Amino acid sequence: PGERLPLPDAHDELRALASDLNALLARQEEASERLRRFTGDAAHELRSPVASIRVQAEVAVANPDPDLAHETLADVLEEAERLSALLDGLLTLARSDAGELPPVEPVELVTEARAAAQRLPADAPPVRVSAAVPQAWALAAPAEVELVLNNLLRNACRYAASQIVVSVLASRSRVRVVVDDDGPGLAPEHRERVFDRFYRVSDDRARTSGGTGLGLAMVAEAVRRRGGRVTVGESPEGGARFQVVWPKHRG
Ligand code: ADP
Repeated sequence: PGERLPLPDAHDELRALASDLNALLARQEEASERLRRFTGDAAHELRSPVASIRVQAEVAVANPDPDLAHETLADVLEEAERLSALLDGLLTLARSDAGELPPVEPVELVTEARAAAQRLPADAPPVRVSAAVPQAWALAAPAEVELVLNNLLRNACRYAASQIVVSVLASRSRVRVVVDDDGPGLAPEHRERVFDRFYRVSDDRARTSGGTGLGLAMVAEAVRRRGGRVTVGESPEGGARFQVVWPKHRG
């Protein structure tokens, strides 16, 4: 008997190929939808400081009162700073979306946590850095660790009632930073979404703080691309508890 083509197998392979291709297409559609949404949201967020700068400048130009001009300039400066923070955040996320990552090297978290606490403004609530281990080496990039700690500490400062505690811990394969504050905390329905780009819980502090809604999105990107994780829950004082886990460098 002559050889036959292994038709059933070929059929299975074609089906598998088609389903792989469909999955790939679906992923690509999702990615371009995400990009579309991000571009639209970014334009929307940029519009409000630009509009405000324009209105204030128009008022100042039309009015010769130097006191008013001074006040207006201070507001314009504030909006310009907001704009600049937004653009910095957008650039950081665009670089990350393009896959431009800084090289990984061991980063010592106890030192970084103390340095981040030192960088806070003088009127910030007291920050206690509590290290469960003398050293905790994360596999990440120094700039990423700095971004993560700066953002978590700045947010904690904005919300804390009286104090912030930063704990550094290590297990066999992972290292962990926990930032606890004693502020109002985050209701469970917001906990996943605060890591989304531009998401802000609509409370007064978030609106008036001049934040961009990009801080925690940048934190999540920086951590996840290194195989780490960031989560938010409740601190023992009832405030927010942000936990970041990185893979551990074993020297
Ligand atoms: P923003 O620039 O608005 O601070 P983030 O991405 O850093 O943006 O934070 C997103 C939102 O998460 C904030 O607007 C705020 O509502 C909430 N949030 C962040 N940190 C805390 C915290 N420590 N306690 C309570 N809410 C917080």
